Order: sequence, then C-alpha cells, then structure tokens
Amino acid sequence: MPIPVESLTHSSDEYIHIPLSSLKKATIRSSSDFRSDVVTVPTPEVLEAMVNATFHDEIYEGDATIAALESKMAKMAGKEAAMWVVSGTQANQISLRTHLHQPPHSILCDHRAHIYCWESGAISVLSQAQCTPVIPRNRRHLTVHDIAHSMIPDGNIHFAPTKVISLENTLSGTILPLAEAQRIRQYALNHPNKPKMHLDGARLFDAVVAEGVSLTDYCDNFDSVSLCIQKGTGAPVGSMIVGDKPFIDRAKWYRKMFGGGARQPGMLAAAGIAALDQALPLIALTQHKAKLVSEYLTMELGLKLSVPTETNMIVLDLEEAGIPPRVFRHRLFQFGVRVFDQGRLVFHNQISDQGVSALCQGVKSLVIDARIPNKLDQLDQEIEYTESLSQN
Ligand SMILES: *Cc1c(COP(=O)(O)O)cnc(C)c1O
Repeated sequence: MPIPVESLTHSSDEYIHIPLSSLKKATIRSSSDFRSDVVTVPTPEVLEAMVNATFHDEIYEGDATIAALESKMAKMAGKEAAMWVVSGTQANQISLRTHLHQPPHSILCDHRAHIYCWESGAISVLSQAQCTPVIPRNRRHLTVHDIAHSMIPDGNIHFAPTKVISLENTLSGTILPLAEAQRIRQYALNHPNKPKMHLDGARLFDAVVAEGVSLTDYCDNFDSVSLCIQKGTGAPVGSMIVGDKPFIDRAKWYRKMFGGGARQPGMLAAAGIAALDQALPLIALTQHKAKLVSEYLTMELGLKLSVPTETNMIVLDLEEAGIPPRVFRHRLFQFGVRVFDQGRLVFHNQISDQGVSALCQGVKSLVIDARIPNKLDQLDQEIEYTESLSQN
C-alpha cells in the first residue's frame, strides 16, 4: 500500500501541491534557474516513489528497485545489461577503465569532451591513459575524417595506441548525428587496433528526441553508453552505464573499487524511474521553448550564438555583444534569473513561463545598455569592486 507523501509532512499547500517548505523554495528557485538542467528538484510524484522504494542492501543481496531501473534502462537502450552509478563522471570513468587493460594506451575524444576537461584529470589517474583531444574540423562535432586523421596505430614504441574512441552527445547542446556515429563505428570495426567505442550520453535523451532517431539505434554503435538520469528530470542523483553483460559484470568491480558500491540505493533508483517517466515526455516541449527564446534573442535582439540551438541550450556570444560576463550574471539576477557568467542558458521542464519572460526582459535590458558607450564596462568594474568587498 503506497504511503502518500502528504502524510509524512506537517502541512500541505493546496496551491502548489508541494508539501515540504524547503523543497517548495527549491522548486520556485529552479523555475527561473538557467545555469544548468542539474537544478531540477524532485516533484511530489518522485518523492512518493522514493518513500515507497525497497530498502535492500545492494552489495549483500541486490535491491529490487535498482534491478527494475537497470532492466528498464537496458531495454530502452537496446543493451543486454545496465548498471546504476552515482554520477556521470563515475559512469564515464568506470566505463573507460573497464575498456582499457594494460598501458600504454590512449583515448581519442573531442577537445571539449567532459571526460577530458571536466573530470578532475581522472583518465590519467584511474586508467593511466593518454588523451588525444581533437578539434572537429567542422567546428561542431567530430566526424569519421577527424577520427581517422587522429587515430594512433599500434606497433610504434613512441606512441600510445588508441584503444577507445569516446564520443559525446549532446556536446554544448549540439548533436552528433546518428549517421556520423554509424560511420565512426564502421571505421572502428575495420581498424586493426579494434578500438572500443564509448558514448558520454549524459544528455543523449535530448539528442535523440531532437534528431528524431531511436535511442536503441544510437546506442547500437557503442560498446558502452553513460546516460544521466538526474539532469532535467527531478531525480536527485544517478547515472547509468549500459553495455553487454560481460562488460557490465566487469564494470561492477570498478564501481566497487572506486567507492561507488551503495548500501540502500533503492530510494534513488525509485526517484530515477519516477523522474524519467515524468520528464522524458516533456523533452520536446522544453526544446521548443529553447528554440523560441533563441529566435527571440537572435532575430529580435540581434544577438549572436556561439553554437546553434539544437536542443535545450542557448549559448550566447557575449563578447560579440559587448556584454561583460559578470554583468550578464548580475543583471539577470536582478531580474530574478540565475545564470552562469559565460552566456550559456540551459532549459529544463521546471522552468516557468515567468522565468522565461524575466530572462528575455533581462537580456533585452542588457542589449539596450550595451549601446551606451562604456556603460556596461563601468558597471562591470562596480560589480567587481562590490563582489571583492563581500569576499573579504
Ligand atoms: C553532466 C555531464 C557529465 C557528468 O556529470 P556529473 O556531475 O558527474 O554527473 C558527463 N558528461 C557530460 C557531457 C555532462 O554534461
């Protein structure tokens, strides 16, 4: 018999139907938070799923809710097996470590790849691997030509042969098309190194919805895929690795070794299942909103983008617009909107219409002020000064 969440709380608010006051605050905050899609918070449905989860020790005996999530994800991705882990970083690093055996070896990836730039240098520590970071010639995504040009063959003692090709989709919100992934896969299968293929698919759901291709067709081209079940979903924690059964069985050793064995993760798996069920059908709508705002910012306000808006991200070229990054963040905060300095705006399904409208008004005010000589630079200095005072 499921326990209703309301019975666990002291008061219930009829208006927003979120009974916990700190969660209510977090929900309101996320409705105008464009920093990332990691800011989504649990909905009442997600909370209810959590309290009705199973509470077995996953290491001693396995947990039924974890097993349910793993089989759901394996099925969705068209793979034999899946494994739950805490984070996307853990999913990527366990996958890469599982593919690699004895150094010297190297991993080929985009020069902006999360595995290379944003994971604490883990590849060199955990896998003793060298990276070959590649700048895509089309400035958007790696192609089979980029890969072929940068592969390090086996057999020459000066070089660490490429043993893994690691791709990322989406990357800064842009898509690596299915047809390109298939060409790279064909190339890899015919290469004498027999490189494994890993996909950092933290936002793969976004990519396949936007491209209109199937998740299983996409995952078909990879030996392992990491998928985030937290970003944009409202689950508090979690990523999945999918692959064949021997790979996942081996990966379990590394999960334990890297401190990722969890005692009672059933609640987290329950949150993941409920959050995915709620969030996946909303992806197309969220992307549509991002597209509309992107059109407003470019066509109406005349701003330029650093990369095209293909999924849930708008990346503004602030430098071209003469908007100092600090002023961007500061001004939008005055409009009640949270952003990071760099001009990246990430949409998720918990953004409200008021949040979108405040964002548009805030950016418009910046575009108007940027026409007044020195105004924003002066403001930038003032903010730098005030912020340096509050730091001391
Ligand atoms: C968010 C993200 C990850 C993993 O992030 P964690 O914070 O470790 O969960 C990995 N790759 C990409 C492309 C990401 O966007």
